[in-house]
Amino acid sequence: MEKAEAKRRIVLVPVPAQGHITPMMQLGKALNINDFSITVVEGQFNKVSSPSQHFPDFQFVTIPECLPESELERLGPLEFLLKLNKTSETSFTDCIRQLLLQQGNNIACIIYDEFMYFCGAAAKEFKIPSFVFSTSSATNQVSRYVLSKLNAEKFLIDMEDPIVQDKMVENLHPLRYKDLPTSGVGPLDILFELCREIVNKRTASGVIINTVSCLERSSLTRLQKELGIPVYPLGPLHLKSSAISGLLEEDRSCIEWLNKQKPRSVIYISLGSIVQMETKEVLEMAWGLSSSNQPFLWVIRPGSIKGSKWIESLPEEFSKMVSEKGYIVKWAPQIEVLGHPAVGGFWSHCGWNSTLESIVEGVPMICMPFDGEQKLNALCLESVWGIGFQLQGKVERGGVERALKRLIVEEEGADMRERALVLKEKVKASVRIGGSSYKALEDIVNYLETE
Ligand code: UDP
Repeated sequence: MEKAEAKRRIVLVPVPAQGHITPMMQLGKALNINDFSITVVEGQFNKVSSPSQHFPDFQFVTIPECLPESELERLGPLEFLLKLNKTSETSFTDCIRQLLLQQGNNIACIIYDEFMYFCGAAAKEFKIPSFVFSTSSATNQVSRYVLSKLNAEKFLIDMEDPIVQDKMVENLHPLRYKDLPTSGVGPLDILFELCREIVNKRTASGVIINTVSCLERSSLTRLQKELGIPVYPLGPLHLKSSAISGLLEEDRSCIEWLNKQKPRSVIYISLGSIVQMETKEVLEMAWGLSSSNQPFLWVIRPGSIKGSKWIESLPEEFSKMVSEKGYIVKWAPQIEVLGHPAVGGFWSHCGWNSTLESIVEGVPMICMPFDGEQKLNALCLESVWGIGFQLQGKVERGGVERALKRLIVEEEGADMRERALVLKEKVKASVRIGGSSYKALEDIVNYLETE
């Protein structure tokens, strides 16, 4: 009997963080459906959970971690990434050499997260095509270009000048210089160095972005021009595949609770997988939620309140405030929650995945961004798409109550919901046959089949 021809293999290299692993694994599933075998290369921590259950057809390979998880805490995320890239090149190259021997040179390409740019060297050495995968918006990447061309020290001096602060970034309406993603991410000189590295290391065949062209047309055009290699906006990836790879277990009891609530009455609150808050802020949120009298579903991740394991150290008044109208979970099935008819709004930190997931369900948002990239997303939600607004200033109970009324009860919120529903349809159309995201995936598959 003739031996079936082996499928071509794609090697995926995610960043070990929830917001990066999830879309990478969704991309892997989408490519697997298109007849490619998948190998995921991981470090020693934050590995994909229950891989044999969720991804039975994938191969998982661990490379020796040059940096332990404790270094992440010590160095902070930016410096950690810089160091990780400096120390991982050799072990990754060895890993690819092994895989090539195992697979009889049958590797179609390496797709690596843009922050894992050390992978470019192995791709070059073994002449394997590579793609950079970005899990943030195209606008964020263009702003990284702008940053990579600026001088960190001079930038700080210039930013003292209100005229510079309010200057529009060329071709990036409505971004002003003060909106560039520099705040809350760590030391500026390290950010600038990382931006330059990410931008310089583009030896790839193309850049795959988890975005949709109808959301970011002008940024995508500008990015394509800056990069000089093809850009593939093929998101939202969760619409292409429902790959589950949560680092935390989902508490599905909240769906039963949502089933008992009135249509579009509930505010869903989640600040993603990384953000941390002060106890004082959490209490102000609770006061505002309680006095708004709106039902709410609140994800409080273990470790997300500084100095507490979970909510055990919060004063008794907290339980009283939340018990009447609220429901708290440690981790929710977010996509299902956003699609539930009882949910009327999403109070979010505006991570890019959460932003896309909310748009896909047509849910308007209260934006509470923490760091630079989230601020860009919030700016787009408010000023470009008109489907959310920012919570201004410090978190305080009066502002919270007012924001909830604006979004859930008042006409302004209803208008945002209407716009969100229009956007939802456009975005959903992009993944159907002939849509822009559908075509982008088709283009990548065609490229790999003919390489
Ligand atoms: N998420 C989830 N359950 C939760 C909270 C978040 O499944 O209770 C998922 C959410 O659906 C999204 C990811 O975690 O896919 C968060 O990614 P995002 O880019 O929004 O933020 P980050 O965690 O990277 O700050």
